[in-house]
Amino acid sequence: MKTINRRNWIKSSLFTLGGLAVAPSIPSFAESKSTFASKSALREELPKFPFNEARMFARLNANENPYGPAPKVIQAISESLVLGNRYGHGDAFTLIGMIAEKEGVSPDHIMLGPGSSDLLEKIAFVRFMQGGNVVSADPSYMSLIHTAQSMGATWKPVLLTADHAHDLDAMASAVDGETKLVYVCNPNNPTGSITNSSELRDFCKTVSPKAPVFVDEAYLEFLEDPESHSMVGLVAEGHDVIVARTFSKIHGMAGLRIGYIVAQPERIKSITSKVRSTMGLCVTSLKGAIASMKEQEFLQNCRTLNAESRNFVSKEITSLGYEDIPSHTSFIIFPIAMEGQKFMKSMYEKGVGIRVFNIHEKPWCRVSMGTMEEMEIFVESFIAVTA
Ligand code: PLP
Repeated sequence: MKTINRRNWIKSSLFTLGGLAVAPSIPSFAESKSTFASKSALREELPKFPFNEARMFARLNANENPYGPAPKVIQAISESLVLGNRYGHGDAFTLIGMIAEKEGVSPDHIMLGPGSSDLLEKIAFVRFMQGGNVVSADPSYMSLIHTAQSMGATWKPVLLTADHAHDLDAMASAVDGETKLVYVCNPNNPTGSITNSSELRDFCKTVSPKAPVFVDEAYLEFLEDPESHSMVGLVAEGHDVIVARTFSKIHGMAGLRIGYIVAQPERIKSITSKVRSTMGLCVTSLKGAIASMKEQEFLQNCRTLNAESRNFVSKEITSLGYEDIPSHTSFIIFPIAMEGQKFMKSMYEKGVGIRVFNIHEKPWCRVSMGTMEEMEIFVESFIAVTA
């Protein structure tokens, strides 16, 4: 990514401050429609204009970690380049052992993939080969759902509650004899909201005998006490729960592509009997992930800096009259008062990448947390664009 030079940005940015548009407050998704919607409440507004990511001043559109990878990870990767002629099986073995120890399970409970996307897709391929249905929240992260649908599965979306948590009672009721998987994203993307972990634990215990519960914990590590919110302990207890984690977010390794699932050994075997796991991984990423797992101070620093950026943005947009959903992740989402495509284009013209989602046909801005300097650029651009 291009290094930010704030002075350059100010020079190139022709912003003016003026009167603000009337900001919308957050509508309750739960009240917007009946619990079981016929189509998704979420529709991404995709850019209809050309843009060059390399020329952005603040790339805040993909929930990337601006601080990573850790210096020791970069060093480990650099040193591993000469091993590029060898397969990384030994390193995969080492990494699986480290993850198993951390998560309190034996290594046969772990499967690696080039990013958790790969594992979300692979589980969807395996579970929905014979159709069936998938239950998940709406709005939520759609990667697994889209793959399931492409395999012929029916999606049973369940609207979030008024406080943007998973409606666990309604999701449990949606599970039927045809349900092949329940997907829970906690904390949730794109809302940034969290579902109470003890309620989710009870839900997993009740529902998993009927259908495996897949809990996507991509953003878990941005919480102050991640382990207490994780569902991974349920796997160790023998429940049919699949937990996904990624090195893309707090570890700052999105471009290096590495993630894992923790699940019952028979669930792992149901995938690895059809497709291979570690074969998709580079020796560089494996060495990097092994190094990153030891970088606890770096991870805590990312957590702290992310929270500082999040508090700053939340405070700034609140002072402008906007209302964000309290975020537990590395991004913030809030409703905007401007036509979505026009807003996005104006922000990109200022060199600020963001995402626009229409939720129940109303435009929302999702902004990833960058450095404080990037967030200042975001806020100043936002003021200029919405003035
Ligand atoms: N799950 C969630 C909730 C995400 O937001 C993302 C990426 O943004 C992923 C999974 C996939 O991440 P990756 O494939 O980089 O591990």
